[in-house]
Amino acid sequence: MKMSKLFVQTLREFPSDAEVVSHKMLVRAGYIRKLAMGVYNYLPLMWRVLKKVENIVREEMDKAGAQELLMPFVQPKELWEESGRWGAYGAELMRLKDRHGREMCLGPTHEEIITAIARDGLKSYKQLPVNLYQIQSKFRDERRPRFGLLRGREFIMKDAYSFSTSQEELDKEYKNMWDTYTRIFKRCGLDTKAVQSDSGAIGGSVSHEFMVITDTDAGENDVFYCDCDYAANSNHAVSKLAPAKTVGDWNKAEIIDTPNTHSIEELCDFLKIPSTLIVKSLFYIVDKKPVIALIRADRQVEETKLMNAVCGTDIRIAAPAEIEEIMIQNGFDGEKGFIGPKGLNTYEGEKVIFVADETVKDMKNFVIGTNKKDVHMVGANWGTDIDLPEKVVDIRLAEEGDICPICGKPLKVTRGIEVGNIFQLGTKYSKPMNAVYLDQNGKTQPYIMGCYGIGISRTAAAAVEAHYDEHGIKWPLAIAPYHVVVVPVNIKDELQMKVAEDIYKTLIKHGAEAVLDDRDERAGVKFKDADLIGFPYRIVVGKSINEGLVEFKIRETEETSNITPENAVEAVITAVHNLKA
Ligand code: ATP
Ligand code: MG
Repeated sequence: MKMSKLFVQTLREFPSDAEVVSHKMLVRAGYIRKLAMGVYNYLPLMWRVLKKVENIVREEMDKAGAQELLMPFVQPKELWEESGRWGAYGAELMRLKDRHGREMCLGPTHEEIITAIARDGLKSYKQLPVNLYQIQSKFRDERRPRFGLLRGREFIMKDAYSFSTSQEELDKEYKNMWDTYTRIFKRCGLDTKAVQSDSGAIGGSVSHEFMVITDTDAGENDVFYCDCDYAANSNHAVSKLAPAKTVGDWNKAEIIDTPNTHSIEELCDFLKIPSTLIVKSLFYIVDKKPVIALIRADRQVEETKLMNAVCGTDIRIAAPAEIEEIMIQNGFDGEKGFIGPKGLNTYEGEKVIFVADETVKDMKNFVIGTNKKDVHMVGANWGTDIDLPEKVVDIRLAEEGDICPICGKPLKVTRGIEVGNIFQLGTKYSKPMNAVYLDQNGKTQPYIMGCYGIGISRTAAAAVEAHYDEHGIKWPLAIAPYHVVVVPVNIKDELQMKVAEDIYKTLIKHGAEAVLDDRDERAGVKFKDADLIGFPYRIVVGKSINEGLVEFKIRETEETSNITPENAVEAVITAVHNLKA
């Protein structure tokens, strides 16, 4: 490809609306252009990168025994009703109607469709196990599309689904996919960590996410991990707590005035107690239902855990006005700092659901809000003064330094970008959709399913997050749009141009993907673009060609050397051939 013909417009500045490196770089270097919120055009350079990621995924999935197919992007409501998700999926599901008024949705994921395909075609245990996958665009009306390709609304995903006859068979496929994912990300130039995770809207029990660890804002997930190999997303991480004072010194329950104590801190100062003696009440709205969470006041609620505890699909903390409103609706004055569980029964006609974190269970003689301004109950106990909610579960956010549940050492925390995940679905879809096969005894059995996703476009963006410097992208060779750029410093110099063209042709002849920067631009401009676009190798043909030398630069390490054109070509071709090995 000649640079003069390459469809790419690099920008002088980073886009002002971009917050993270990959978004900034991919726009400025001419890879993507925004079409609508969370929706991007993948321009030729980007498309080459995406196809490379896709091909690595495809090769490894095929090697692992999976079979590729392609399902429609638009899906009918009926199948989603069979699985029960038409109602449950929430606002991320983009629903639409056709001209006949039939309801459809844009595919955010394809469990329903694949289960229907399996139900039609996999009738006997003899056909199982099977793993089917596709690579395709997905649409999710994300609450906060951001970070360019990292969290788009339309994005490209590889989604695979396995059908087995037993848990053991599923375990084997799960391990197979785990190993396959490890190979895929390694080939893409990414180090990943597999972490335990919540199963979210897809459902199921066992699941792991593959995270690219990063210390930048692009890492939307907090990952808790330990030297012992324990690693979990914050929405799933469990920890043990260090001992703390959780039994108060009061010898009876009393309702006392606590003037000007709007915050936990103020209350602690006033009562001269640690926050581990206070039970905090937090009001959430889960799928439009009122939920009050009780937790020891020194700890935070993990919202996904809380949402799962009440089998919800969407959660948000109540707004200040709603907190006052629930108090008023239950006969209190309404002052938000003082909310307490006692006496709050309904909200907007719905019964309030109470969930307690495990931290409050063993507390004694504690402090709790009374729904009255500047008034708290001290010395309270479960059973005698306040009922402990029936539901006592872990809804707590782990914290750095908490104790590892496996080995007892302090947990560490870092941030990660989730590039893929694997789930054991079990019969979550096969049962409600009556997707069954005949077993050896001629009896119908639901398939035991697994599903396995990789964000193709997110993986490409994550690779930028992991490989860049202030001048631009440093693509890993395997997914770079082109392997090498050949830059004649002065295109009017006959020798320079001739050598550059020869190098370019030789590279292509031997299977390297090369760009010849034949533009009549200053060398500085060409070098800047080469760094920004992120070609893994650069061969510069300048004045030193009169001594038979070119400059060879490796973008990842910024190493340069003056070598012969033959050696430069050889270095690139060897690296490219090693990719295939
Ligand atoms: P997240 O927690 O980041 O929203 P998810 O759990 O919803 O991800 P899955 O439904 O399991 O993701 O999708 C499989 C893969 O698709 C993810 O691992 C991720 O790489 C990718 N992916 C999911 N949502 C997006 C998005 N909005 N933009 C780009 N890629 C995405
Ligand atoms: Mg999501």
